Amino acid sequence: MTATLITNIGELVTNDPDADDLLGVVNDAAVVVDGATVAWVGRASGAPSADAQVDAGGRAVLPGFVDSHSHLVFAGDRSAEFAARMAGESYAAGGIRTTVAATRAASDDQLTSHVARLVQEMLRQGTTTVEIKSGYGLTVSDEARSLAVARQFTEETTFLGAHVVPADTTPEEYVALVTGPMLEACAPHARWVDAFCERGAFDADQSRAVLQAGAAAGLRGRLHANQLGPGPGVRLACELGLTAVDHCTYLTDDDVAALAETGTVATLLPGVEFSTRQPYPDARRLLDAGARVAIASDCNPGSCFTSSVPLCVALAVREMGMTPAEAVHAATAGGALALDRRDVGALVPGRRADLVLLDAPTYVHLAYRPGVPLVSGVWVAGRPV
Ligand SMILES: [Zn+2]
Repeated sequence: MTATLITNIGELVTNDPDADDLLGVVNDAAVVVDGATVAWVGRASGAPSADAQVDAGGRAVLPGFVDSHSHLVFAGDRSAEFAARMAGESYAAGGIRTTVAATRAASDDQLTSHVARLVQEMLRQGTTTVEIKSGYGLTVSDEARSLAVARQFTEETTFLGAHVVPADTTPEEYVALVTGPMLEACAPHARWVDAFCERGAFDADQSRAVLQAGAAAGLRGRLHANQLGPGPGVRLACELGLTAVDHCTYLTDDDVAALAETGTVATLLPGVEFSTRQPYPDARRLLDAGARVAIASDCNPGSCFTSSVPLCVALAVREMGMTPAEAVHAATAGGALALDRRDVGALVPGRRADLVLLDAPTYVHLAYRPGVPLVSGVWVAGRPV
């Protein structure tokens, strides 16, 4: 195993939970990477020697982004729908059906190469762990193959058969399919089960049935909830002890209290509000209540086709009341919590060596310089990519 010393780091974000500040910042820092793992972190002046050395040139290094919410397995393009929305039409969950038709018509190779392109796009922007959902197949075979495609790129695959009820069936028939034969075909390819608990998609009882059937098949639960309006989803997620509940745009005081009490991670997806002109979630309210918060991209062809976590960080700071430190923490350590991953999201000894080098002196530039491609180096499991 070869050890590499990355030194002359002007500002290192460690997310060390034992540090006094949220991000565990170390100035004039160095990191030693041994194989796939972080072996040593501290002041550069005290660094041990290694087989190879990289000079960070006084720039900032942070943990790779953990994007805990994406829908990358799809075909087709909905730019016309986006343009119509920007011309004044409102977003409705039914637009998903357009992508379903294109996804069913695509070959396995087409789906795989499309996901590969998007994962590369994410990597160039500093995302080193990504969750990928199914949900544009909506038949037993199309959901199973969507997850088999996703599995080629990540362990964090999520069965989202309960994305929308297909046009040719009733909700009752469809939930029976999702909790029966579709789950059976999909569970071997998935770590998580998810449902879109929203008016126009699945109600609380249907979502509960999907999550409980998934749990019985060995899948862990996460939920899309409270995106388009207030609803029962967040409280359902907290009641079931799910790892994360995503969107959380419309929350009551009871929802916020339940999140703070249970520790279910509230994953905020500000790219969606940016791309739909909906009101942003109030991150400040969640943080002040003591809730655990993550930020993710929700990269998908309908409501938010950005793969950029740096954009989401900038939006979270500018539009959601987060400080730059809170937003960067939510996009790294927060994402790791939302996927219940203990090996990523921080740069401390023993963690996977997923690092991002910014062409900037501080992580603050991620919000201070929105839209600028600041990521100039990425390491995944100790290897530069
Ligand atoms: Zn989503």
